[in-house]
Amino acid sequence: MAKCKVCEKKGFAIETDINGLCSDCADYFYTSMQDDLKTLEQSIAALNRINHPAAAIGRLEAADQALRRIRPYAQAGLVKLPMDLPELDDWLKTMASQWQEE
Ligand SMILES: [Zn+2]
Repeated sequence: MAKCKVCEKKGFAIETDINGLCSDCADYFYTSMQDDLKTLEQSIAALNRINHPAAAIGRLEAADQALRRIRPYAQAGLVKLPMDLPELDDWLKTMASQWQEE
């Protein structure tokens, strides 16, 4: 019986691919995830040199949304993030509190 590494769906009807992904999860993994990863990397780079609150908030939101989709894949060890997940969460939280005080 197969079990998807990401959504943990399992059963005799579930087929997983070489990475252990069901067809729903594989779809995003092979199509849009690279875009989200790029968005995340660019947002981190931008946040490191940004000095405009509105721009920072926009970047934080973009990073947040991308990370929400990537997270289960990162937790399953299928993708290498720019930082380790707990470190990245902390960093984003620090950035968010820093800019929202402005
Ligand atoms: Zn799945």
